Amino acid sequence: MTTPRNFPDQLAEKLDGLPELALDCNFSWSHRADAIWQELDADLWQQTRNPWLVLQTTSSKRLEELADNETFCKNLKSIVSDYRQSLSEERWFQHELQATAKFKQVAYFSMEFGLSEALPIYSGGLGLLAGDHLKASNDLRLPLIGVGLLYQNGYFRQAIDQDGNQIALYPSSDTGDLPVCPVRNEEGEWLRIQLYTPSRLWVRVWQAQIGSIKLYLLDTNDPINHPVERCITTELYGGGPEHRLTQEILLGIGGWRVLRALGIKPDVCHLNEGHAALLVLERARDFMEEFHLDFETALAVTRAGNLFTTHTPVEAGFDRFSPELITRYLGHYAQSLNISLETLINLGRNPYDTANEPSFNMAYLAIHGSAAINGVSRLHGEVSRRIFSPLFPGWPLQEVPVGHITNGVHVPTWDSMYADELWTNLCGKSRWYCEHENLAEKFDRVSDEQIWTLRAKNRKRLVDYVRSEYARELNTQSMIPEAERQDRVLRLFDPNVMTIGFARRFATYKRPNLLLTDPDRLAAILTNPARPVQLVISGKAHPADQPGQALIKAWYQFMLRPEIRERAIYLSDYDMITAEYLVQGVDLWINTPRRPWEACGTSGMKTLVNGGLNLSELDGWWAEAYTPEVGWALNGLEDELADPSQAEILYQHLENTIIPHFYDHDPAGIPRCWVNFIRASMSTLTPYFSANRMVREYTEHYYLPLAANYNKRIADNVKLGKAIQLWQKRIKELWAKIHVENPVAEQIENTYRFSLMLYLGDLEAKDVCVELFSEPAEQKSFELIPMQMERAIPGAVNGYLYSAVIAANRPISDYTPRIRPNHPDCNIPLETGLIQWVKMPR
Ligand SMILES: *Cc1c(COP(=O)(O)O)cnc(C)c1O
Repeated sequence: MTTPRNFPDQLAEKLDGLPELALDCNFSWSHRADAIWQELDADLWQQTRNPWLVLQTTSSKRLEELADNETFCKNLKSIVSDYRQSLSEERWFQHELQATAKFKQVAYFSMEFGLSEALPIYSGGLGLLAGDHLKASNDLRLPLIGVGLLYQNGYFRQAIDQDGNQIALYPSSDTGDLPVCPVRNEEGEWLRIQLYTPSRLWVRVWQAQIGSIKLYLLDTNDPINHPVERCITTELYGGGPEHRLTQEILLGIGGWRVLRALGIKPDVCHLNEGHAALLVLERARDFMEEFHLDFETALAVTRAGNLFTTHTPVEAGFDRFSPELITRYLGHYAQSLNISLETLINLGRNPYDTANEPSFNMAYLAIHGSAAINGVSRLHGEVSRRIFSPLFPGWPLQEVPVGHITNGVHVPTWDSMYADELWTNLCGKSRWYCEHENLAEKFDRVSDEQIWTLRAKNRKRLVDYVRSEYARELNTQSMIPEAERQDRVLRLFDPNVMTIGFARRFATYKRPNLLLTDPDRLAAILTNPARPVQLVISGKAHPADQPGQALIKAWYQFMLRPEIRERAIYLSDYDMITAEYLVQGVDLWINTPRRPWEACGTSGMKTLVNGGLNLSELDGWWAEAYTPEVGWALNGLEDELADPSQAEILYQHLENTIIPHFYDHDPAGIPRCWVNFIRASMSTLTPYFSANRMVREYTEHYYLPLAANYNKRIADNVKLGKAIQLWQKRIKELWAKIHVENPVAEQIENTYRFSLMLYLGDLEAKDVCVELFSEPAEQKSFELIPMQMERAIPGAVNGYLYSAVIAANRPISDYTPRIRPNHPDCNIPLETGLIQWVKMPR
């Protein structure tokens, strides 16, 4: 499909496979071809990590030289042949599931993807997670495709001036330099689709390759478009609400249309955050046309195949748009759905509370169009149930239909080459291609010496990187004489000194300055002559976030202290390359978010495989991972006032426990206690907090059942789907008529007997479930006890006596009967949230 640069035939033959390798983002974890890019252009490769750019830049003369170099060609041939062969390998999905799983394709929609610095279309955690999801899907050979946007300028780049002020820069990428290629149809024509927003807009489609996974990227920078529209995909998270809405229309509506144009019909669509929520409308619209259905039915059917993953721990985090904006941009679209504008807008609202919530909430739309919702850690699942509970009035918090799957990271991307070598020796090469049950046991055999050597190598690499970055920065300061610059670079850091890292988005809730609460105390920790510590800080603050930028400045000012200069550095422009050196090199990774505002956090997971340890707030993933054997915890409160005491705990941990452990060497020079921590953390946590485990969980808990249910609904010309829609409608119309008479709760010896007479009107007994709800007993969850239908009430239409007898070992007032809708193929309460509680005479 692609001819990257026009190699003359002879060259193309000798260098066969080179463009293919350069275009596959697997270069971000498979380092087999690194030596090749190094040979082509060492500097450019080191600085950009973009093989495609390297290949484009290398002169024909150099390429011809290499084509005549036998060793080079032999090496290339073997890499290419292994690469091609690996693409057809069967792995976890084929071995474990394909025979039984009835699904063909998952489509994963995300506003950002962090795959490699060579393709800068991400801003932070959300994008990295999406990138790692695709990579692990490739490892497991899951039939999945990605859908996203191609931004010309990506997210802003950061520089910091002499005074510590953040400067936001927007260098533009030349699409030709990015490892993507246009998607072409059979006639060789570039695939473009049209959207109406409401003016006509052309959308171009690109493709990135991640091993066996394809990622389709949309952009509007087509010269045929109006300049305003060409700029829709200029920046990620730039501009105002209008700009954001057009991007989301592009992702959701445009994204689905691209799949259709390519003939791809996914069973399951995975919405990575609410940005892609409009997809649920377009998927329904498409279905409506195909089966000649009304919109409501089409949505009731297709939502069975949509999964919504929420990443936000606070309500304010959701994208909301004013009804005026929705009217302007989607008014015409409502017509194409054959629904009123009001109906469309109500899909983005809480139907039980339209007065307080006039705006259009993308998370609500996603919920109204999905069959399952999940948060990204256990704690975040709880928080999300609370956030979304207003959509399910009458339902206990625990039954709000939000599950969780804890995030994981793509381990091969984040491990150092030394760590990879060690893991490969102990656990084999294909350890991430399957379920890895006994990885921990296998890795546990690693010796203290091996661990400590690994740490030294990893740390040394980070120290070299930090020095080269510092040298680059000093080179811009020509007032300093060359000799002094070199001297300063050499004095910075020491490869045998304990190295602490803190890098993330500078947002106030992440409290990036907790460690800086008492600058003198921190300075004393860093410069303790017996047990010195060196510190790397990095992170961007959103250009509109002034408080976040002030935190950067505070760190910068701290680092100007002469006694600190050799021990601490602020690396500007935090990106995947910086992150890689950091998570590989640090001995300790610190994370201090204000609980429970960190939905999950993933950077700390990236240190695990490399032998870095974590000191973190018991929030997000660390609340699940922490035990006293694997690291250290701050157990914080939500209250801002607690910050100073939190800082005290942080300092005490460092001064009294962590740093002394690191320097407690035995006669052989090895800190046994520290190494034991590393072994426990590496072996037990690495497999679990991997994207491998995460993607398998998504597949088993969501993709498989959703696909099965969706396919069940559409079978036989949408038979079940239509029936479900009619059922839901009937329940909604007739629910209010249900009533209860004669509820009785009585004690009979040592049992309680509950009974009630239920009049269902036009509904039937099979449409409802009558159950006894018990309040949660100490530490336990609530219980539901089914009430049995005893008999029909004489002379009543659909009137029945229900009863239940239970042991009387709690107060009788702990139990309340309730009635809820019941359908074997319907997700209750997500799809029908009605419920009636029975008031007991007391
Ligand atoms: C992993 C990563 C993140 C996300 O880290 P958090 O722990 O969620 O803050 C952000 N940016 C980069 C460059 C990363 O590699």
